[in-house]
Amino acid sequence: MTAKNCATNTMQDCLAEAEQRCMQRGARLTDLRRSIFEILLAARKPVKAYDIIECMRDRGQRLTPASIYRTLEFLLGHGLAHRVNALNAYVPCTGPHEEQALLLFVCSGCRGTTEIDDRVLYDAVRSRLAGLGISLRNGCIEIQGICRNCLQA
Ligand SMILES: [Zn+2]
Ligand SMILES: [Zn+2]
Repeated sequence: MTAKNCATNTMQDCLAEAEQRCMQRGARLTDLRRSIFEILLAARKPVKAYDIIECMRDRGQRLTPASIYRTLEFLLGHGLAHRVNALNAYVPCTGPHEEQALLLFVCSGCRGTTEIDDRVLYDAVRSRLAGLGISLRNGCIEIQGICRNCLQA
Protein backbone atom coordinates (compact mmCIF):
# COMPACT_ATOMS: atom_id res chain seq x y z
CA MET A 1 0.00 0.00 0.00
CA THR A 2 1.15 3.49 -0.66
CA ALA A 3 1.80 6.17 1.88
CA LYS A 4 0.03 8.93 0.05
CA ASN A 5 -3.63 9.00 0.84
CA CYS A 6 -6.31 11.49 -0.05
CA ALA A 7 -8.05 10.76 3.24
CA THR A 8 -5.21 12.49 5.06
CA ASN A 9 -4.40 15.08 2.41
CA THR A 10 -6.51 18.17 2.11
CA MET A 11 -8.92 18.54 -0.80
CA GLN A 12 -6.67 21.32 -2.12
CA ASP A 13 -3.61 19.03 -2.12
CA CYS A 14 -5.53 16.34 -3.99
CA LEU A 15 -6.78 18.81 -6.56
CA ALA A 16 -3.34 20.30 -7.06
CA GLU A 17 -1.90 16.81 -7.49
CA ALA A 18 -4.60 15.87 -9.98
CA GLU A 19 -3.92 19.07 -11.90
CA GLN A 20 -0.24 18.24 -12.04
CA ARG A 21 -0.84 14.64 -13.05
CA CYS A 22 -3.01 15.79 -15.95
CA MET A 23 -0.45 18.38 -17.03
CA GLN A 24 2.34 15.78 -17.06
CA ARG A 25 0.19 13.64 -19.31
CA GLY A 26 -0.70 16.49 -21.64
CA ALA A 27 -4.30 16.54 -20.52
CA ARG A 28 -6.33 19.29 -18.98
CA LEU A 29 -8.37 19.20 -15.80
CA THR A 30 -11.25 21.30 -17.09
CA ASP A 31 -13.77 22.90 -14.74
CA LEU A 32 -16.21 20.05 -15.24
CA ARG A 33 -13.57 17.36 -14.66
CA ARG A 34 -12.36 19.19 -11.58
CA SER A 35 -15.90 19.55 -10.19
CA ILE A 36 -16.65 15.87 -10.60
CA PHE A 37 -13.30 14.91 -9.08
CA GLU A 38 -14.15 17.22 -6.15
CA ILE A 39 -17.48 15.46 -5.68
CA LEU A 40 -15.70 12.09 -5.54
CA LEU A 41 -13.18 13.42 -3.01
CA ALA A 42 -15.82 15.02 -0.80
CA ALA A 43 -18.07 11.95 -0.73
CA ARG A 44 -15.58 9.66 1.05
CA LYS A 45 -17.73 6.77 -0.20
CA PRO A 46 -18.23 5.37 -3.70
CA VAL A 47 -20.46 7.69 -5.72
CA LYS A 48 -22.89 6.66 -8.43
CA ALA A 49 -23.16 8.60 -11.67
CA TYR A 50 -26.74 9.50 -10.77
CA ASP A 51 -25.57 11.08 -7.49
CA ILE A 52 -23.05 13.15 -9.42
CA ILE A 53 -25.82 14.46 -11.67
CA GLU A 54 -27.82 15.45 -8.54
CA CYS A 55 -24.77 17.09 -6.98
CA MET A 56 -24.04 19.10 -10.10
CA ARG A 57 -27.70 20.13 -10.28
CA ASP A 58 -27.42 21.47 -6.74
CA ARG A 59 -24.48 23.52 -7.96
CA GLY A 60 -26.67 24.90 -10.72
CA GLN A 61 -25.34 22.78 -13.58
CA ARG A 62 -27.58 20.45 -15.53
CA LEU A 63 -25.59 17.67 -17.15
CA THR A 64 -26.55 14.69 -19.23
CA PRO A 65 -25.55 11.19 -18.14
CA ALA A 66 -23.43 10.99 -21.31
CA SER A 67 -21.28 13.93 -20.28
CA ILE A 68 -20.95 12.58 -16.74
CA TYR A 69 -19.78 9.20 -18.07
CA ARG A 70 -17.39 10.87 -20.51
CA THR A 71 -15.87 12.83 -17.65
CA LEU A 72 -15.65 9.75 -15.44
CA GLU A 73 -13.89 7.92 -18.29
CA PHE A 74 -11.38 10.74 -18.39
CA LEU A 75 -10.74 10.45 -14.64
CA LEU A 76 -10.37 6.66 -14.93
CA GLY A 77 -8.10 6.96 -17.94
CA HIS A 78 -5.77 9.32 -16.16
CA GLY A 79 -5.65 7.31 -12.96
CA LEU A 80 -7.60 9.83 -10.91
CA ALA A 81 -10.47 7.51 -10.08
CA HIS A 82 -11.51 3.88 -9.98
CA ARG A 83 -14.76 2.25 -10.92
CA VAL A 84 -16.19 -0.03 -8.25
CA ASN A 85 -18.08 -2.57 -10.33
CA ALA A 86 -19.65 -4.26 -7.30
CA LEU A 87 -21.41 -1.01 -6.43
CA ASN A 88 -21.67 0.49 -9.89
CA ALA A 89 -19.97 3.54 -8.44
CA TYR A 90 -16.74 5.53 -8.48
CA VAL A 91 -14.04 6.47 -5.97
CA PRO A 92 -11.13 8.90 -6.28
CA CYS A 93 -7.73 7.24 -6.55
CA THR A 94 -5.81 7.56 -3.30
CA GLY A 95 -2.46 6.30 -4.53
CA PRO A 96 0.28 7.64 -6.75
CA HIS A 97 -0.03 4.68 -9.16
CA GLU A 98 -1.47 5.52 -12.56
CA GLU A 99 -2.66 2.14 -13.71
CA GLN A 100 -5.91 0.44 -12.83
CA ALA A 101 -3.92 -2.67 -11.92
CA LEU A 102 -4.72 -3.00 -8.25
CA LEU A 103 -6.86 -4.91 -5.84
CA LEU A 104 -9.73 -2.95 -4.42
CA PHE A 105 -11.28 -4.04 -1.16
CA VAL A 106 -14.97 -3.16 -0.90
CA CYS A 107 -16.70 -3.38 2.48
CA SER A 108 -20.21 -4.73 2.10
CA GLY A 109 -21.18 -3.03 5.37
CA CYS A 110 -20.20 0.62 4.97
CA ARG A 111 -19.34 0.41 1.26
CA GLY A 112 -15.93 1.91 2.03
CA THR A 113 -13.05 0.96 -0.26
CA THR A 114 -9.34 0.41 0.30
CA GLU A 115 -6.73 0.28 -2.44
CA ILE A 116 -4.31 -2.61 -2.24
CA ASP A 117 -1.66 -1.41 -4.64
CA ASP A 118 0.43 -4.56 -4.90
CA ARG A 119 1.48 -5.27 -8.45
CA VAL A 120 3.06 -8.63 -7.59
CA LEU A 121 -0.14 -9.87 -5.96
CA TYR A 122 -2.26 -8.48 -8.80
CA ASP A 123 -0.14 -10.19 -11.45
CA ALA A 124 -0.18 -13.44 -9.47
CA VAL A 125 -4.00 -13.49 -9.35
CA ARG A 126 -4.18 -12.53 -12.99
CA SER A 127 -1.79 -15.23 -14.20
CA ARG A 128 -3.36 -17.89 -11.96
CA LEU A 129 -6.73 -17.09 -13.54
CA ALA A 130 -5.19 -17.06 -17.00
CA GLY A 131 -4.00 -20.59 -16.29
CA LEU A 132 -7.64 -21.52 -15.74
CA GLY A 133 -8.59 -19.91 -19.02
CA ILE A 134 -10.14 -16.88 -17.31
CA SER A 135 -9.11 -13.48 -18.53
CA LEU A 136 -9.76 -10.40 -16.46
CA ARG A 137 -11.17 -7.32 -18.00
CA ASN A 138 -8.86 -4.40 -17.52
CA GLY A 139 -9.35 -2.83 -14.18
CA CYS A 140 -9.35 -3.46 -10.48
CA ILE A 141 -9.76 -6.89 -9.01
CA GLU A 142 -12.46 -6.38 -6.41
CA ILE A 143 -12.46 -8.17 -3.10
CA GLN A 144 -15.58 -7.97 -0.97
CA GLY A 145 -15.67 -8.41 2.78
CA ILE A 146 -16.24 -6.62 6.05
CA CYS A 147 -13.91 -3.90 7.28
CA ARG A 148 -12.63 -3.72 10.85
CA ASN A 149 -14.98 -0.87 11.81
CA CYS A 150 -18.06 -2.70 10.59
CA LEU A 151 -16.95 -5.90 12.25
CA GLN A 152 -16.70 -4.14 15.64
CA ALA A 153 -20.02 -2.37 15.28
ZN1 LIG B 1 -5.76 4.25 -7.14
ZN1 LIG C 1 -17.12 -1.25 6.60
